[in-house]
Amino acid sequence: MLTSNNQMMRHCITHFGGKNFDCEECEQSFSLKFNLKHHIDTQHNENAKKVICRKCGTYLSGSRQLKYHDNMKTESRVSETFDDI
Ligand SMILES: [Zn+2]
Ligand SMILES: [Zn+2]
Repeated sequence: MLTSNNQMMRHCITHFGGKNFDCEECEQSFSLKFNLKHHIDTQHNENAKKVICRKCGTYLSGSRQLKYHDNMKTESRVSETFDDI
């Protein structure tokens, strides 16, 4: 009786609580492997996602951030003319 109860418990755990995919970088956990993969791709994938600003060497987490960063730059051109002084 007891063993079958135990087996039932384990069976339920594998269905509901057992399949957690933990992120090794920030310890967030996801119920689906797809979600974890997406999380890593967007949050931790340095090779694919990190962009470097060619003007000042700042690392940015994505091309959208770089674009935003670039827009900020064009507004503060004052720092570039600083070299001429
Ligand atoms: Zn993470
Ligand atoms: Zn920059």
